Amino acid sequence: MEGALKKIPKFAVLQLSGCAGCEVSLLNASEWYDKYELVYMPLVVSTHHIPDDIEVLLISGGVRNDEDAYKLQRAVKLVDRVIAVGTCAISGGVTNLGDRDDVREIFLSQAKRAHLPQLLSKTHPVDAYVDIDLYLPGCPPTPELFMGALLDPQGFKAASIVCAECGRRKLNDMKPDHITGFQKGDLDPDICLVNQGFLCVGTSTRGGCRAPCTRAGHPCVGCRGPSNAFIEKESGVWMESIQRVFERMTNIPSEELNEALRSPQLSMFLFQFSDYAGGNRRIRSKDKVL
Ligand code: SF4
Ligand code: SF4
Repeated sequence: MEGALKKIPKFAVLQLSGCAGCEVSLLNASEWYDKYELVYMPLVVSTHHIPDDIEVLLISGGVRNDEDAYKLQRAVKLVDRVIAVGTCAISGGVTNLGDRDDVREIFLSQAKRAHLPQLLSKTHPVDAYVDIDLYLPGCPPTPELFMGALLDPQGFKAASIVCAECGRRKLNDMKPDHITGFQKGDLDPDICLVNQGFLCVGTSTRGGCRAPCTRAGHPCVGCRGPSNAFIEKESGVWMESIQRVFERMTNIPSEELNEALRSPQLSMFLFQFSDYAGGNRRIRSKDKVL
């Protein structure tokens, strides 16, 4: 008979209001299979309650209703190490875009009839309710980032900003007059997308994703959130910085740039750059962000 089975630590994934993209990314990583046992994640491993012998709890999704808040506060009592993963858990994410009065009215009237959870006025980041040991931003975080968070957060190596992982060259003498727009125009595969008129915010976005979007020709929309230089600053500091980048690298009129920075395409992620400062939740130290 083989020796006794090796005991490996258990972890759980608490899914609050989100899209399950984080869970799919976690399942696309494989290095944790023989190092951790996944014991709870409703997408694929379903038990009625989170077991009380887990060592790590990952939280995906934000707090959109009172049931999310209840499940979150209950779950963190079971575990010492809590990791908030993805834009929704850290800043509200896609569920924040549903903050519409009409939706709320419909939901609340249904709630009266069917005892559904009560919708909150907005999606709250999880650290408005509980202490977090590690933040793993991204929409979703890549499999490699999940591995870093689970297996070796101290040893995970990442560039400070996406530009340093992108590999495109910035040019001083190539200044577009207007924003090219998403999915438009011919692309040079080696030149910085800002030089080509795309609204790429990689200059102030946290590295670690290895720049899959910009390498493929899509501007970085900032899903990894602010780099360390901006984490503990007011949102206006980030806005001024990104404006300066475009003033230096392009001839795009400031009104056109400002309108584009507030466009629906970017709004889902860019509020991360403001949510890091102030608000009713715990201070996020850069030492806690992977
Ligand atoms: S601004 Fe965007 S395209 Fe340009 S180097 Fe940085 S990440 Fe790459
Ligand atoms: S390149 Fe930008 S948008 Fe794409 S994964 Fe990285 S941080 Fe997110």
